[in-house]
Amino acid sequence: MRPFPIDLKSMHNPAGDTYAHGTQEWARHTLNIQDGCYHDCRYCYAKALAIRFKRSTPTDWSHPRLRVKALDKSYRKRAGRIMFPSSHDITEDNLDACLSVLRNVVNRGNDVLIVTKPSLAVVKPLCRELHPYRSSVTFRITIGSASDTVLRFWEPNAPRYRQRLAALKHAAERGFQTSVSCEPMLDDRIEKVISDVRPYVTDSIWIGQANRLRQIIAMNCPDDPDANTKAEELLEFQDSSRIENLYLKYRSDRQIRWKDSIKKRLGLSRPVMHGLDV
Ligand code: SF4
Repeated sequence: MRPFPIDLKSMHNPAGDTYAHGTQEWARHTLNIQDGCYHDCRYCYAKALAIRFKRSTPTDWSHPRLRVKALDKSYRKRAGRIMFPSSHDITEDNLDACLSVLRNVVNRGNDVLIVTKPSLAVVKPLCRELHPYRSSVTFRITIGSASDTVLRFWEPNAPRYRQRLAALKHAAERGFQTSVSCEPMLDDRIEKVISDVRPYVTDSIWIGQANRLRQIIAMNCPDDPDANTKAEELLEFQDSSRIENLYLKYRSDRQIRWKDSIKKRLGLSRPVMHGLDV
C-alpha cells in the first residue's frame, strides 16, 4: 500500500515552521476515547489513516470500540483549548462515556471545543450536563451541505440536515458558544447552509475544502465507483472559480473564517501557532 503523497513543502513557511492545519487551526490539543466511528464518512481522514496503519479496515471502521484507558484517566489542566473529539463522533451509543470524560476535562478548568455532527438526542444531554461549564465549552457543528441527498452519500450514518440545525439551535438557546464547520464543503450551494445557520451561530462559520480526497477515497472506499465519481465532481467544484467567488462574497463578513486549504490557495495569511482559531 502506498503512503499518502503528503505535500510537506506546502505546509512550511520560509522560516521553516509548519503552518497550522487541520485540527491544529482550532485547538492546541485533541482528545478521543474511541477507535472507529459509526458515522463512516467517505472523506474521513481519520479512517484513512487507521486503514493505512492497519488499525482498521474499510468495513470495521463503522463498528467503533471505546478505549478503556481513556475513560479511566484523570485529566489535567492543559494550556490552550482541547478539541473533543477529532477522530470519532459523539453518538447515542457512546454518549455516556463522552459525557463522563467531558465532565472530567472541564472540571479541571479546561476550555473545550466540541466538534460534532450531532442529533438533538445527543446535544440535549450534552447541554444539560455541561451547562454549569458553558463559558468553557464551544459547540462546532459540522454541516457541509443543506442537501440530505448529499449528506447521506458522504456521511451515511450521520444525522441529517434539519437534525443538525436543531442541535445547533438548542446549544445556542442554552447559552453555549456556537460555531459551524462547513469543512469539507460537499457541494456548490454552501451559501444556503451559511444563511440557515447564521441565526444560531454566536462565534464563527468555517469554510474549507476536502483535502487529499482521491487518496482518502482510495483507502476508505475501495471498489466503490460511485465514490470516485462523486469525488471527481467535488474536486471539479473545488478547482473552479467558485472558491474565489465565495471568498469575494464573504471576505468582509466577520463571522466567516477560512480553513488553511483556502488560505493557502488564495494567498491569505496562514498562522503557524496552533489553536488560534483565526
Ligand atoms: S464523523 Fe468525523 S470521525 Fe466520524 S467518520 Fe465522519 S469525519 Fe470521520
